[in-house]
Amino acid sequence: MLLPFTIFLTYSILDSVTCKTSNIIPLTYDLLFKLPIIDFNGFSGSMVLHFNLTSLSQNISLDSVDLHSFKNISLINTIDLSHPKIDSIRILREKVEFTFEKSLFPGQYLLTVGEYNGRIRDGSEGLFERKSPLLYTTHLQPNFARRLFPCIDSPAVKSIFRVSVVHPTDTVAQSNTIAMDVHIESKEWQRTIFSATPQIPAYLLAFSVMPDTTLQLSRQTSFGVTVRVHGAKRATTIRVLDCALASFEILAGLVDVPLPLNKIDFILVPQYDGGMENWGHIAISEELAVNGDDAHMIYLIAHEIAHHWIGNRVTVSSWQYICLQEDLADWLALKAVKALLTDEIKLQRFQLSQYVEIQLVEDFLSPNHSLLMPEEVNQELINRHCYLKGVVLLDTLESVVGEQFMISVIKSLVGSHSSFNLTTFTSYFDQIRVDRNATVGQIYEYWFTQGGYPSILVENNGPSSRLQQLSKPLWPLKMTSTLSIPQFVFSESIVFASETAPLLVNLNFTSFMRVNYDSMTWAAIFKYMYEEPELFSAVGRAQLVSDFCYFYAHDNIENGHIIKDAVMDMIYTQPKYFELCDWNLYWCNSKSDKSLLSQILQSLAYRFSAFDSSSDFGCKNGQAAYNLNQMCDKLFGRKCI
Ligand SMILES: [Zn+2]
Repeated sequence: MLLPFTIFLTYSILDSVTCKTSNIIPLTYDLLFKLPIIDFNGFSGSMVLHFNLTSLSQNISLDSVDLHSFKNISLINTIDLSHPKIDSIRILREKVEFTFEKSLFPGQYLLTVGEYNGRIRDGSEGLFERKSPLLYTTHLQPNFARRLFPCIDSPAVKSIFRVSVVHPTDTVAQSNTIAMDVHIESKEWQRTIFSATPQIPAYLLAFSVMPDTTLQLSRQTSFGVTVRVHGAKRATTIRVLDCALASFEILAGLVDVPLPLNKIDFILVPQYDGGMENWGHIAISEELAVNGDDAHMIYLIAHEIAHHWIGNRVTVSSWQYICLQEDLADWLALKAVKALLTDEIKLQRFQLSQYVEIQLVEDFLSPNHSLLMPEEVNQELINRHCYLKGVVLLDTLESVVGEQFMISVIKSLVGSHSSFNLTTFTSYFDQIRVDRNATVGQIYEYWFTQGGYPSILVENNGPSSRLQQLSKPLWPLKMTSTLSIPQFVFSESIVFASETAPLLVNLNFTSFMRVNYDSMTWAAIFKYMYEEPELFSAVGRAQLVSDFCYFYAHDNIENGHIIKDAVMDMIYTQPKYFELCDWNLYWCNSKSDKSLLSQILQSLAYRFSAFDSSSDFGCKNGQAAYNLNQMCDKLFGRKCI
């Protein structure tokens, strides 16, 4: 999934308990959903689950939340065709447990649940509805499949799904695969039967029911996969179709592993954050499709398509590694953004927005975080940790091994694995040594699991330059610099000869670190930037301003206030070169009150998506900064940035 950068203020209580190793291995689910059932604003379901029981047991326990009224339960042993007798059904908070009179031997069984009921929600979890235009659709990541059907709800457990939907006769239903048959059941109801999915985890199952007047526009890709977009407004539907088709062509060409599908639907969902990569049935935010700028639009759509390889064909074995899955999808999606976005200014602006988001998360939302998540993850945790520094780390990895090598790793993951974890990924890099003691695989593992944001000090003292790591523990830091220095620095401090020019490192944020300089070097950098702003990229300018302000606010720069005045002067006389300046200047403006933005970002019961439309940008007149300051004014009687 991909969400626009969102800032949450509500802390949802985690209610998910992931099934630890279950003795049930599902093989196929035959699922029927009937909706909407107006009487209880919900749906009714029925299920036949074919599974392998791996150990002697008296119970069959499945993940299930808010499902009730289980009726007509039966079990068949598919080997001796016996019918074990059911003793009781227990509905627990996160489980439904069927207990049998006698213990069941290991083997294959068919469990039939003749009928059960569940809820239709108005949020964006499980099966949910939108009123205008009318839409019923599903969102099951990370652990909401259990709100739709009793299952083993784990990304590591993959099965084949055969879905049928019974829906009103004036609606159409779509799901992960194409419809094989549609027949009328009564004056009010018709049934759409979908072909079987390939092996997928439960969280990638999806279906939608929408009015039969909904637009459906489609086109075929050169890979034989049809892209179909379902939406209410023609212009938006066409925009998404163009973007999806172009993104699919780029990504399918790049990864070059065919997918076992013949169509991908895009469902435009109102009041929905970001997108979701359901197998063959992608949901995306209608608001973003209408208002998002081209870069964010391509990024979102390409991200969900990229997941069809990384995430859907090969899936993380545990939610602990969700950031690896998300960041690899992002890494691929950014290839599509760069290939499709021909306007250099738009591309720079997009990269700038990503840079600013990373700074906000590292400074305020999730300081010191690592990319390793708890197994019981929720969407808020994913948003606050994935898509950000992990993508920079993958870019840095690429700068060491090259793009072709990275793509060959993705091909191999997709082509020869059904699930993966951090070790599977780093094993591809274990043969590449950066020195006697470290491989690229070990370095990447360190970056992934270590919390924090490394920082270094570079001092240019005449004929030599000294580089010192300021943060502890020491990181293996990948260097790009204006002088020839080693590719990796592991030690606390190191001195280089620099007779001709000052040492500048990590320009354009090619590695994940902050850089402080001595005051003379800072003054020289900003003098040069003032005279020749176009020689820096948008990210390059923002990064130098942001790093300077950060170290200035922490009293790490001698005579910092004099340089600060010059920096502010430079920015306000040429604001067009410093879009989103309000965010990058945060530390320069708030030296005496470092907690205000932090407080507001962390505590407000308010969420917004920043920087995905062009009006959000601008220095001093960006909409995103304006909105935030309006809110701060109300709450604190002053601006936050
Ligand atoms: Zn994603």
